[in-house]
Formats: sequence, C-alpha cells, structure tokens
Amino acid sequence: MNVPTTEERVEEPETALATARRQLDRAATHLEIDPAVVERLKHPARVQRVSLPVERDDGSLEVFTGYRAQHDSVRGPFKGGMRYHPGVTEDECIGLSMWMTWKTAVMDLPFGGAKGGVVVDPKELSHEETERLTRRFAQELRDTVGPMHDIPAPDMGTDAETMGWFMDAYSVLQGETTPGVVTGKPPVIGGSHGREEAPGRSVAIVAREACGYYDLPLEEATVTVQGYGSVGANAARLLDSWGATVVAVSDVNGAAYDPEGLETGAIPTHEEEPEAVTKVADRTIDNGELLELDVDVLIPAAVGNVITTRNADAIAADLVVEGANGPITVSGDSILRERDIPVIPDILANAGGVTVSYFEWLQDINRRSWTHERVNEELESEMLRAWNAVAERVDERDLAWRDAAYVLALERLGAAHGARGLWP
Ligand code: NAD
Repeated sequence: MNVPTTEERVEEPETALATARRQLDRAATHLEIDPAVVERLKHPARVQRVSLPVERDDGSLEVFTGYRAQHDSVRGPFKGGMRYHPGVTEDECIGLSMWMTWKTAVMDLPFGGAKGGVVVDPKELSHEETERLTRRFAQELRDTVGPMHDIPAPDMGTDAETMGWFMDAYSVLQGETTPGVVTGKPPVIGGSHGREEAPGRSVAIVAREACGYYDLPLEEATVTVQGYGSVGANAARLLDSWGATVVAVSDVNGAAYDPEGLETGAIPTHEEEPEAVTKVADRTIDNGELLELDVDVLIPAAVGNVITTRNADAIAADLVVEGANGPITVSGDSILRERDIPVIPDILANAGGVTVSYFEWLQDINRRSWTHERVNEELESEMLRAWNAVAERVDERDLAWRDAAYVLALERLGAAHGARGLWP
C-alpha cells in the first residue's frame, strides 16, 4: 500500500479546493498522463458570480451573491449541486465542482463537474423569499445552465421544491417545459423514483461489496452509522435488512447503541422526526464513542471532518465506508492508512445520488418515467460496475481505495481530453 510520508500530511482542515488539487496531483503520480491535461484539470472552465436582488416580505430589498463553478465538461454536461448556505464561497464552489468531476468519472456517467450556491442562511428566509431568490438565480444563470450544458441538483439548504421552482423559472424563460435542466425534482414534474434514497443505497451496496472483498459475511458483520438522515438512515436500514447487525446509529444529539443489534426501522430518521434518535433509545452513547466502537464497518454519514488526527488512532473498526462527503481529514486519512484500515471513499460510496440523477435526466429527455424497481436495479448494476473497476486498480497496483478511485477517474478524464485534444 502507498503510505503518505509525514511531509505529505497537511494542516487541517483543508479547503475543498486544496483537497481536490492535492488528490489530482496524487493520482497523477500513479499514471502516465499528459501533464498538460493535469494542468487543465486544476482550473475550472468557468466561474460565474451573480448578484441576486430579492424583495423581502417587508418590502425592503436585499442583494445576495450567487456562484456557479463549472469545472470540466470533456465527458458531458456539467453536473452538480446548488447549495444555500452562509459559508458558500467562490473557492468552495470550485473545489466541490472538481469533486463532482471525479465522482461522475468514477461512475462513468456522461457528465462533468459543477457546483453552485448562494451566500444565504436559508433559515432566515421565508418560503416566499426562498422562492423569489431561486427564481432570480435561475434567471441569472439561464445562459449558463441547461439540460445539455449544466444541470444543477439539490444540496445543503435546497431540496426538491427548490428544484421545482428553478425548473419552472427556466422553462418559462425558455418558452418550453424543460425538466432536464435540474435533477432532484418532485416526481410529478419529471423527478425520479428512488432519487432521495439513492446515496444511502449506494453506501449500503458498497459496504456490502467491501465486506465480501475482505471475506466477511454480511450476516456476521457489525456496523455503526453516524448520522441518521437521508444517507445514514437509508444505508443503516438496508444493511439491517440484508442481515448485518447495526449496533449504533446517531444524530447530532448522540447515538442509540445496542451490541445485540438495533431495530433500525423503529428509529425515526431525520426526515420522519428530526433529532429523535436518542429519544427512543434504551442505551445511548455520544458521537465520539460511536466513532471509536470496535465493529467491522464504520459509516460516517453525517458531516465532514469527523475523523481527524485527534481520533484516527482510536478508530477500532476494520473498515470505513464514507457516507458523508469528506468525513475524514487528510491527516486522519494518513493515520488510517498507516494503520491499514481500508477506507472506501465518498466519491464512490455515496455516488448513488448523482447516478440516479443521471437516470432522472435520461427519463426527462425521453419523457418516460422508470419504475422504482428499475431505478434500483440499474443503480445496483452501475454501482457494481464502478466497484469492480476500482477494486481492479486496488489489486493490480496495490493502491489504497481512495487513490484507486481517483486514478480511475483521472484515467477516464485523461483519455477523453487526449481524444478530444485542445482547440484552438
Ligand atoms: P441529513 O440532513 O438528511 O441528515 C444528517 C444527519 O446527521 C442527521 O441525523 C443529523 O442529526 C446528523 N448530524 C448533523 N450534525 C452532526 C454531527 N455533528 N454529529 C453527528 N451527527 C450529526 O443529511 P444527508 O443528506 O443524509 O447528508 C449527510 C452527508 O452526506 C453530508 O455530508 C452530505 O453532503 C452527504 N451527501 C448527501 C447526499 C444526498 O443526496 N442527501 C448525497 C451525497 C452525499
């Protein structure tokens, strides 16, 4: 295994942009790739910054700032989420747009990478103000986005309703109903069945395959999941239904713990009843203890940067599957590598979301919806294809899973850039 030297350990936490560029450089060292392609991939193709004047409910006017970073489209239209959060910055959008490029390439989807957002605390806006902001954002981005060009999706602070407003505003401006301009919409206007549960389902599929890879029967596996929201609860419930023993799950208040196994269906998810995990539990522990439980599989599926230099030495799981984006810091990851604890990276494990977004886009273009069953079957086969391609690189090149996933992404991006060339 390639263990990073101490010099490679960087100060934490690192920005999304720094992480994306460092991972690119790291993957390039494992490949024969034209350095000019690597140089191109270090920069976004375009970043748009817009001002969004919005009338508040009291009649006053406030101007918000929005961004859309489009990183690379060599393999297809730009694709990525749109977040409403006070911490949104141009650099964060660029970094996250690069992560999306790696994610779509690992999954071999015909998309590139993008990310956007508005600097706003959505909790401070009324429903009507959020709608006006969204419609104005769609108006300002109308020349930048489009079903064949750039396709936003929900992210932090945005949801299916936001996507519906965005799609409607864009469609009105275009003079035709254009469902394929965004994904993650309500199914009545072209959204896909199974989109909401898809990231959690892909985490469960990948965890199951990883257990198989390491000769651990799922029926004998113990699992802990941090975060009981869309990703964590769907992953926990599926693994439970497939025979694994889920011993602890948590929300922001703490964890429910039962070494004999929890009944995951009886614990309310974030959507069913927010932050209620500890309310229904017989025995509780805190989130720090959950991360350090001696189990087979640990799935951090809540927020970023929870495994760091502070606790990486105490992680007792045999395998970590990243459900959240970036739950392990660079230095935390180095420690887990030195300790030979395999980590299945986010860009593979939670990529079910963007994969079902691709299915949604296909359904929109063809004006024909798929059954929930078909979505799940196709997701299963796409996840297995990606899993096998990454595992092949792990075996053939003796790489860690994260490096193997980035190498696979870069191989595909390098080949596409090589075939298309640079013009003019
Ligand atoms: P969510 O809001 O549905 O649920 C988050 C859960 O984490 C809640 O149970 C919350 O109580 C808990 N939580 C919040 N802060 C915590 C903390 N500090 N410690 C422990 N628990 C905490 O969110 P989600 O959609 O499940 O997303 C979780 C992660 O997965 C995020 O990193 C997100 O970016 C990533 N992700 C989400 C999707 C998606 O489509 N939902 C796709 C890919 C990746």
